Amino acid sequence: MTFTSPATTAPPTAPSTGPTTDPSATPTSARLDADFYGFQDVLTPREQEAALAVRAFMEREVRPLADDYWDRAECPVHLFKPFAELGSVGAAWAETARFENSAVFRGWVGMELARVDSSFCTFIGVSSGLAMSSIGLGGSPEQREQWLPPMAAGDLIGAFGLTEPLAGSDTARGLRTTATRHGDTWVLHGAKRWIGNATFADVVVIWAKDTADDQVKGFLVRRGTPGFTATKIERKQSLRIVQNADIVLDGVEVAEADRLQGIDSFKDVAKVLRVTRDGVAWQSLGTMIGAYEAAVAYTAQREQFGHPIASYQLMQDKLATALANVTASLAVCVRVSQLQDAGTQRDAHAAMAKSFVTTRMRETVALAREACGGNGITLDTGVARFFADAEAVYTFEGTRDMNNLIVGREITGHAAFV
Ligand SMILES: Cc1cc2nc3c(=O)[nH]c(=O)nc-3n(C[C@H](O)[C@H](O)[C@H](O)COP(=O)(O)OP(=O)(O)OC[C@H]3O[C@@H](n4cnc5c(N)ncnc54)[C@H](O)[C@@H]3O)c2cc1C
Repeated sequence: MTFTSPATTAPPTAPSTGPTTDPSATPTSARLDADFYGFQDVLTPREQEAALAVRAFMEREVRPLADDYWDRAECPVHLFKPFAELGSVGAAWAETARFENSAVFRGWVGMELARVDSSFCTFIGVSSGLAMSSIGLGGSPEQREQWLPPMAAGDLIGAFGLTEPLAGSDTARGLRTTATRHGDTWVLHGAKRWIGNATFADVVVIWAKDTADDQVKGFLVRRGTPGFTATKIERKQSLRIVQNADIVLDGVEVAEADRLQGIDSFKDVAKVLRVTRDGVAWQSLGTMIGAYEAAVAYTAQREQFGHPIASYQLMQDKLATALANVTASLAVCVRVSQLQDAGTQRDAHAAMAKSFVTTRMRETVALAREACGGNGITLDTGVARFFADAEAVYTFEGTRDMNNLIVGREITGHAAFV
């Protein structure tokens, strides 16, 4: 049996004063029950309309296939173009934004994706967040004009290659991949690990150290370039839909015209990561909402001791704790994105959001899983996928440790990474 989300179905019939059964509440098609404090109101009417179109797309196109694709560890690449046609890919950039929009809106869209499937959110986010932000923040006007419009239209898919087999948390100083300039051509040597979308991406942003000055530079490596190979990482138990790859760069030649002209050092890479870290906080929020909604639906229908398990005090404590986690995380996400809109966001702001929300996510998906008992470990209750996916989201774009060290450095003035 599959249990559907209460936000898209009629509320349960069990008597309750909770948010899912209030007949005077805003129609569930317009407002998520999990948005308990009504944060959706901070979006403009145009942004709300666009966010609802994304929600409808996710319910119609992604929810019906998510479990099976996850089970088979396959990616619905065919949905990239139809999703891009909604207009939310590349919304951050002047070249590609279809209407004036905020960082809060862009984060909200990520939350809507992850609420249905966190892998799909990653698949879209790697291209529209990590890869496009690298070009948007680090590219010349000509490079932006060349790459951003086709990526926003869904005609090109991007990937982002920073992590290496021997450099994960330590990428700021530990990259081994090298780039050596010969006239107007750069030659790349090295290896990358965990690179999402890399098995099918049209362009992979590769970060490598210039052998001349030891500084990190960014390179746009096109699909099919000789010397580039991407091998799918198998047997992954989290975000199974995402196609992560081990990459080998064996004398890959890249024209100077495809070196990101605005990237001079790792400090420029950090600017990209700051923006996308907000996005991962929003993704974590969506992941916990998906698990919470599934738990609300399941506990309303499952009966033990002659009553729905949702009617018991201990169960309501779990659901109330989960909703409080969602609500606090939503507040953090909205505010950190507002700081981005205001141009006052610092690295520690984004790091705290990622650390805090992923930690709350981990607790929330575990509560939701627990609420569903044994059935909670199957894909059928709609919780297990979120539970498993949370682990990867907790780790990528800086582990909790790394993000807390960024915040700790700001609090104390001491960098404690080594
Ligand atoms: C599903 C998935 C998708 C990914 N997608 C991409 C992608 O598209 N592109 C990309 O470039 N990367 C990607 N990554 C890589 C990701 O960013 C890294 O996994 C992450 O940065 C952690 O690096 P690591 O896995 O090498 O762990 P490590 O750095 O080896 O860390 C292992 C543990 O040690 C801890 N640790 C490390 N240093 C310290 C310290 N100084 N003090 C205390 N504790 C420490 C960490 O917090 C962690 O708990 C992805 C990863 C996953 C799992």
